[in-house]
Amino acid sequence: MSETIFSKIIRREIPANIVYEDDLCLAFKDVNPQAPTHILVIPKKPLERIDSADNEDKALLGHLLLTVKKVAKEAHLTNGYRVVINNGNDGGQTVDHLHLHILGDRQMQWPPG
Ligand code: 5GP
Repeated sequence: MSETIFSKIIRREIPANIVYEDDLCLAFKDVNPQAPTHILVIPKKPLERIDSADNEDKALLGHLLLTVKKVAKEAHLTNGYRVVINNGNDGGQTVDHLHLHILGDRQMQWPPG
């Protein structure tokens, strides 16, 4: 996988507003928020996208979802929130390092754009 801005955030080479970290993942505020609360959860393992994951990543993917829940609770998103994974070009992915968007503190619409 090629180097991305998120690898640099993991290594603290560029700043980010980090809200959670453990040995497997990192959560930080999105620099261009699309909701009053917009947090990204990323694995430290350099997976490009959800399509890059396979059976050996089962536990990691579960961990990322449980981290979403933990981070959303810490952010007091008690009225609900949206979790988004953009995958590839048609999915609107712009950074080639798997990330889960947590969007909250506003009413979401459906269908998404
Ligand atoms: P994607 O469109 O790939 O699903 O989402 C990438 C997200 O990363 C975007 O919401 C974008 O605002 C965010 N982002 C891109 N560069 C940076 C950065 O340097 N710092 C932070 N905190 N977020 C970034």
